[in-house]
Amino acid sequence: MSLSFAQAQDTKDTLSAFRDQFHIPKDEEGNEIIYLVGHSLGLQPKTVRDYVIQELDDWKTLGVEGHFKGRHPWMAYHEFLTEKLARLVGAQPVEVVAMNTLTVNLHLMMVSFYQPTTMRYKIVIEDTAFPSDRYAVASQVAYHGYDPEEGVIGLRPREGEEFIRTEDIETLLEQEGDTIALVLLGGVNYLTGQAFEMERITQAGHRHGCTVGFDLAHAAGNLALRLHDWEVDFAVWCSYKYMNGGPGCVGGGFVHEKHAHRTDLPRFAGWWGHDKETRFKMPPAFQPIPGVEGWQISNPPILPLAALRASMDLFDEAGIDRLRAKSEQLTGYMEHLLEQHPSDNMSIITPKDPQQRGCQLSLRIKQNGNAIHDHLMKAGIMCDWREPDIIRVAPVPLYNTFTDIYHFAEIFTQANQNP
Ligand SMILES: *Cc1c(COP(=O)(O)O)cnc(C)c1O
Repeated sequence: MSLSFAQAQDTKDTLSAFRDQFHIPKDEEGNEIIYLVGHSLGLQPKTVRDYVIQELDDWKTLGVEGHFKGRHPWMAYHEFLTEKLARLVGAQPVEVVAMNTLTVNLHLMMVSFYQPTTMRYKIVIEDTAFPSDRYAVASQVAYHGYDPEEGVIGLRPREGEEFIRTEDIETLLEQEGDTIALVLLGGVNYLTGQAFEMERITQAGHRHGCTVGFDLAHAAGNLALRLHDWEVDFAVWCSYKYMNGGPGCVGGGFVHEKHAHRTDLPRFAGWWGHDKETRFKMPPAFQPIPGVEGWQISNPPILPLAALRASMDLFDEAGIDRLRAKSEQLTGYMEHLLEQHPSDNMSIITPKDPQQRGCQLSLRIKQNGNAIHDHLMKAGIMCDWREPDIIRVAPVPLYNTFTDIYHFAEIFTQANQNP
């Protein structure tokens, strides 16, 4: 398919104007690069600067009074994000909150939702889970006095396959479900790009009495999630990947409504989770805010939240369903172009079914993968290299174009044919 086809798709694209709302990094000659690493750090919305400067100015002119008299008072600042986050992940407002960072939230959720017993103490993760998740899970198992070697089950694809079949998860749960306390998977696996069938997995977990949580680091801002309807017990995410909140930005958490008001669950408490009416009376007994806000611990950092607010305003304007529709087209287009030049040296390990992937494609390169990656980077295409043999590319519907994808496929194919 020709360059003119890609250009025509860009012209037809009703979301194309959003690209102008982002700063696109440039090469040394001043040409915009093709940025395919939104899975690692999303680009900066142009509005971020103003949103952050507003808070710096309120701090400058109001001092501590900014908590109440700021244009967006800091006392309630996280609440400005709640409705938009709820729409993004398919939740009720009472179920979502912007707080802390991802791995911290994972621990806080496990404090409440991982309650092992001698009968039921295991946690299921992906064998290729992001290392931070594996460390967090293993340390929770050990903290409760169990052996992580035995207590953490790593899901693997079948021999000769690249991603995990949902039916195999169901079978595992049927066979061993009564020893499993928690199923904790990525919404999208960071390495293969597989999007797990969250609703089906949640149902299967619940059939066997397991709690089901998801790490949405690579799913939030990427998939059209329906966490409430799917009855997911809890979820956590970071906001610097597809959510474009900026490096180290504040993450988030979801607790399903059916748990969000429970006071019987253990939790690590702090004053920001305490009832807002009496928080400043500083009473000795902790009384949680109803809903997931009651899981907050500290008052949040306003400057990163301001950046996130800028980004969430864009998401809300575009709408995740429209973004997802474009995303499926962009990713499908990339797959199609790569498949036009079949090569023994490259295989796409991400599922072909659009329902089982987000925007990322992971390419396994047999030989000279590192050199091909270097070549792409020199040619102005920013993509990601994972040892020993994987290039990850993510066309992001907010700022990538069909033309980006066309150029990527041309340059990749050339490099792959003459490595
Ligand atoms: C990016 C990512 C992390 C990073 O964790 P932080 O606590 O934000 O540093 C953790 N888990 C997964 C699955 C990720 O993709």
